[in-house]
This record gives sequence, structure tokens and C-alpha cells, in this order.
Amino acid sequence: MTPPQQPALAEPQEELNPFVIAQQQFNTAVQYLPDLDAGLIEYLIRPERVITVEFPIKKADGTYQNFVGHRVLHSRVRGPGKGGIRYHPDVNADEVRALSAWMTWKCAVVDVPFGGAKGGIECDPTELTEDDLRRITRRFISQLGDAIGPHVDIPAPDVNTNARTMAWIYDTYDMLHPGKNNLPVVTGKPIDMGGSLGRPEATGRGCLFACQQALRRGLVPGLDSVEGATVVVQGFGNVGATAARLFAEAGAKVIAISDVTGGRYNADGVDVAAALALRDETGFVDGLAGTEPISNEDLLALECDILIPAALENQIRADNADRIRAQLIVEGANGPTTPAADRALFARGIPVLPDILANAGGVTVSYYEWVQNIENEQWEEEVVNQKLLRKMNRATDAVIDTQHRINASLEQIQQARAEQGLNGQALAPVDLRTAAYILAVRRVADVALQRGIWP
Ligand code: NAD
Repeated sequence: MTPPQQPALAEPQEELNPFVIAQQQFNTAVQYLPDLDAGLIEYLIRPERVITVEFPIKKADGTYQNFVGHRVLHSRVRGPGKGGIRYHPDVNADEVRALSAWMTWKCAVVDVPFGGAKGGIECDPTELTEDDLRRITRRFISQLGDAIGPHVDIPAPDVNTNARTMAWIYDTYDMLHPGKNNLPVVTGKPIDMGGSLGRPEATGRGCLFACQQALRRGLVPGLDSVEGATVVVQGFGNVGATAARLFAEAGAKVIAISDVTGGRYNADGVDVAAALALRDETGFVDGLAGTEPISNEDLLALECDILIPAALENQIRADNADRIRAQLIVEGANGPTTPAADRALFARGIPVLPDILANAGGVTVSYYEWVQNIENEQWEEEVVNQKLLRKMNRATDAVIDTQHRINASLEQIQQARAEQGLNGQALAPVDLRTAAYILAVRRVADVALQRGIWP
């Protein structure tokens, strides 16, 4: 009799929990910082505070519905918490934890004096009216109470939230704290109520600036500018649509765009202005004249110079990284590339400008908005954009320089690890994401040590 066969073992599933991924990225980076104390490392990785609230609203149709919202303050070592609020059915505490940690490292990479935070409400905005969304926002903010504040934790827009949502947040907070200048409690506000010129475009513009500087630094041999470069953009919201427009204005040829309904492709170039008009009219790019449909999955695999994922997490994974045919990836979204995909792309020589650098333009101009609110000023848009350009160039240089420095000193770091009694496994050269983390973790750790651990 033949012995019973062992069932074939399935390939281990790739870990897609964003919080686990954020921890993996952090753990990879701290291998290159052997002088950091293990307890300090643990302090830096853990979120400082996680708040989950549950609340009902009475909907426009007269029924009652309950919602769950989260606000995570990851770190306030370098300043008050800063990070967007997302409305999406897939929001959960781990996603918000991950997004808050990425904010800490992002603020450190661009060197703005904020810590990291993030919020989210589990809801499907497509099934809610504007009145419902206003009630949800007000109820959520009132339940957060003094957990947010101009010098505590400062929200901003993210997926499915916008300037209108920020106006409701400001108004709710202001009702609860009358008699003070409460404008700096939230950024991304409408321009005529304390918003900054340039903030709506800042994330997409920051992607362009980081990309241009990286190309000037020779990141992609033979491609020293976006002019004439072919560009594919996934996601056509605040970040993706602005990036598509600004890359096109800078002379790039945008050959494909997409949103939740799918993608649109034209090898000769998509008319981005027409796509924006259609999106403003219908909400989507579906049916865009002069283009053919393409799935979001196939869009990622298009041959192009620059691929900009600007939708959600986990778009480039172990199972599709080999299909990528871009020369450079610029992460407009947070967390679009998994660690396994990072390794595959690095092995193939495809650089990734990581989210904590590439999409940091948004938080940078949020910082400028916060400063303007505190000073009761409104800066010219040109001033904002020039400041953003300098910040993005400096941060891009710092990340590329960190990568060069670390990869030129692997043996010394290895030796320092051995002296600390840490494991002796050979250290691999780092990609740009790990370099950005090393830069950021070092900056946050330095401030933590300068402040001293209280008491
Ligand atoms: P948004 O809501 O304005 O737009 C999201 C876009 O992605 C929409 O076009 C939507 O249709 C599309 N989309 C949703 N699911 C998709 C899917 N499965 N496939 C393809 N497209 C899909 O959001 P946003 O503010 O542009 O944020 C996009 C990403 O950028 C998020 O990861 C966010 O965290 C990140 N980000 C945003 C900012 C900001 O300032 N808004 C700053 C930094 C990072």
C-alpha cells in the first residue's frame, strides 16, 4: 500500500498587513544603525497612542448607522503628530498604525518639525451623502476631544477626504475650543479659511520635484530629465491627477492613467486636461475619449520610463514585481510596494523613490500652512512652491547620499555590529527605501536622545 501523500505545501503567502510591513522596513534599516540601544529601537517602532472610537449617526434617510474610527499618534519626538484622515471601507487599526509610522519617518526625511500620526474611519463614502459625511466627521472629531490640537496632533486630507472635510474638522474643533486661533489644528483647509496656496497640489508637485532631482543625480542612466519621458500613473485623485498634470506640464508623455474603475491607455499620450475635466464631471476617468481601456494590473506592467503608483497600498507585490517594465518608480501612494517586491526590483536595478520621500510634499506644505496659521499670514504660491522645491531637493539628495554612504561602508557597519555582539550575517547593500529609513530613524533617535528619556 502506498503511504498517504503529504498535500503539496502552498507557497507561503506574502505578508500584506501594512503594519507588519512597516515594522519589517524599520527592522531592515536599524540593522545598519548598530549603535542604537535595543530599548530605544523598541520605543521608536511602537506607536505612542492608539485611539479607537465607535459612534452612531442618524443618516439622511432617517436610519441610524454605527462607525468605527481610529487615530494613531506614532511619535511626537520631533514635534506634534501630523497625518491625514482616510475614509475607506478597508481602514483598520493596523493600516492606521502603519500609516502613522510612515508619517514619522516621512517628516524626518524632509526635516519638518512634526512627529507621525494618522486617522481613518471605516466607511464607504460612495454610499454616504454629504450630510452623512459631515455628521461622521463632526462626531469623530468631537470624540477625539483633546487628542488632536494645534500643538498635539494635526490632521490633514488623505484618501476620500478633502478641503471640505478639513473645514468641518476645523469648525468642530473651533466650536469646542472658542476664543483661540484654532486654524493650525488641521491642514489642507480651503484657501479662504486658512489653507495654504499650493497645498492641494503639493503631494503631486513633490513627486515631480523628487523625481527631477533623482534624475539629475543620475539615478536612471540615460534619463536625466522628465522631458520626453513616458509616464504611467495609477490613481487619479489628489495625488495621481496632480502628478499626471504636472509631469505633463514638465514635458513628460503620460501614456496611461487609472482610478478605481480601471485604466485608460494611449501610447501617443493621454490628454490629461480632458481626463481632469471628465473626472470633475463624472468622478472617474472611465470612457475617456481617445484612449483604450486597460486593467489596473496590466497598467502597472506597461513599458514606461516612470511609474507612479498613487492609489493605495500593496499594488506592487511579490506576484507582479517581475512584470514591472518601468525604469523608475515614484511612490505617490503610501505603501504601494511590498518588501518582497522591493527586493525583486532592487535585484533588477529598478530604483524606487520611496513614499516617505516621494510623497512628502504634502506634509511639507502642510507644515507651511501650519506656520502661516500661527503667524496669521498668507504666503504667495510662488513662495510656497520655491520652499517646497528646496525641501524636496535637499531630502532627495540626503536619501541618495545616505544610500551611497551606507553601501560604501558595509564592512565597517558589519564590524561595529560584531563589536556590539549583534548577529554576524553579511549586510546587503541598501535600496533607497532603506536609506530613507536609516536617515529618518537616525534623525528621530538623535532628537530622542537630545531630549532625554523622561523623567
Ligand atoms: P484620493 O481619494 O484623492 O484618490 C485616490 C485615487 O485612487 C482615486 O482616483 C481612486 O479612484 C483611486 N483608486 C482607489 N482604489 C484604487 C484601486 N484599487 N486601483 C486603482 N485606483 C484606485 O486620495 P489621495 O489623497 O490622492 O491619496 C492617494 C494615495 O496617496 C494614498 O496612498 C495616500 O495615503 C497617499 N498620500 C496622499 C497625500 C495627500 O496629500 N492627499 C499625501 C501623501 C500621500
